[in-house]
Amino acid sequence: MVRKPPASAAKPAEKAGEVQLYADRVRVYPRAVQGIARNVKWAILILCLVVYYVTPWIRWDRGPGRPDQAVLLDMAHERFYIFGATFWPEDIYYLTGALILAAVSLFLVTSLAGRVWCGYACPQTVWTDLFMWVERLVEGDRNARMRRDRGANSFDKAWRKLVKHGAWMLIAFWTGGAWIMYYVDAPTVTVQFWTGTASMEVYFFTALFTVLTYVLAGWAREQVCTYMCPWPRFQASMLDEQSVIVTYQKWRGEPRGHGKRTDDSQLGDCIDCKACVHVCPTGIDIREGAQLGCINCGLCVDACNEIMTRTGRPKWLILWDTLARQEAKAGQETDARRNGARDEAIRLLRPRTLIYVSALVIASAAMGTALAMRSLIGLSVQHDRAPLFVKVRDGSIRNAYAVKVSNKTSEPARFTLALADLPGAGLPGAGMVLADDTEHRTSELVLAVAADSIGTFRVLVYGHPAGQADGSQKLGFTLRNMATGEATAVASVFMGPVR
Ligand code: SF4
Ligand code: SF4
Repeated sequence: MVRKPPASAAKPAEKAGEVQLYADRVRVYPRAVQGIARNVKWAILILCLVVYYVTPWIRWDRGPGRPDQAVLLDMAHERFYIFGATFWPEDIYYLTGALILAAVSLFLVTSLAGRVWCGYACPQTVWTDLFMWVERLVEGDRNARMRRDRGANSFDKAWRKLVKHGAWMLIAFWTGGAWIMYYVDAPTVTVQFWTGTASMEVYFFTALFTVLTYVLAGWAREQVCTYMCPWPRFQASMLDEQSVIVTYQKWRGEPRGHGKRTDDSQLGDCIDCKACVHVCPTGIDIREGAQLGCINCGLCVDACNEIMTRTGRPKWLILWDTLARQEAKAGQETDARRNGARDEAIRLLRPRTLIYVSALVIASAAMGTALAMRSLIGLSVQHDRAPLFVKVRDGSIRNAYAVKVSNKTSEPARFTLALADLPGAGLPGAGMVLADDTEHRTSELVLAVAADSIGTFRVLVYGHPAGQADGSQKLGFTLRNMATGEATAVASVFMGPVR
């Protein structure tokens, strides 16, 4: 697909009939605007930033010796803490489930309302918006910025650039620093950072995310949404003529032109002021129709409503609507529209949205069930390889196993470990004094494991020579939490001499 350069771009020299595959970047100078879309964008921006910066500082009491940060991806100890839940590395499939849920939700939202995620809640949009707000505060609105950038170098230009980039770097640093706090305890790493005692990884990743934020939100901006992000390419396949997107009502606006409208005027409502283009953060002209670069932010809706109010024309020349409704409206006779002909309804329920909703329900149910049935107990048994077995004085055979017991609860726990499948097998009992003492063998061991940790035990099992030619016999281990009753079992083997 050959992409159109932004509407404000100067066209590169083209030879007749030659398709240009490259267009120089034309700097976009978005103008400030007020209105519904802008207010919603501010609200979402503030919410996202507060959640991002504040979350690492929320505390959550998990008991002594355990991290008290509510959300913590503790790489060093291989745990992910999120409020009352703790996830272990083997719970990675929950992350897969969460990603599937997020992806299907995004598909559904896109098929209903286009790229609203991109326009309102994507981190690239949120931080770019914040950086643009700082830019406006320091360098003024669109016209002042353009004038200064095109003018000669001056003290005024220099100090404003310096302050703007300084503020951007500060925000970027704060953002990079906050990112690190999701991986290490926030108060601890803050003290360590400023006293020079943090690890090299902390300094490296803070610097990396600082630079990334500064470059992506300060310099790359709309280039990320238009060229770097793969999402616009996918989203085209999720949209149809019933998706609600930002649309210019061509049938009402054209033919566009300057000048006063009279009753017998041949002109449409668009006065060609280009306010919609000047506020667009990606620099496109929505009047050219739906485009890949449009992030559905609605700022052009606000800008045009402002103009329509000033010119005394009805608002919503640019609005959120479906292509199907626009086609129907464009096909209606002017008289029918004047007489209030009813608009076609917006069809939210259609095959593609029903498929996404069904996928969402199934994925949510599967995820909910998996979480509800999540096991808080784990058992792994490894048979010793050397020696495979030992003959003891009473004629029985002894095998040794490395047993690992996972206690995923937030409390210390006691577990019983029992044997199965091997008649007559025994474990060393509590009163056993001498090695291989036959009198105190037991069928069950009690193992204590600290909260949220793995206990490692060496377990001896006594059995009798096998009937099988290769000397192996089936042996099962059953583990039960004595407080909760939750149990798990694993299969192993008991080895003896070859017949
Ligand atoms: S803001 Fe409205 S009137 Fe002005 S150019 Fe855009 S569509 Fe036309
Ligand atoms: S065309 Fe309008 S909705 Fe699309 S990105 Fe530009 S301002 Fe936002």
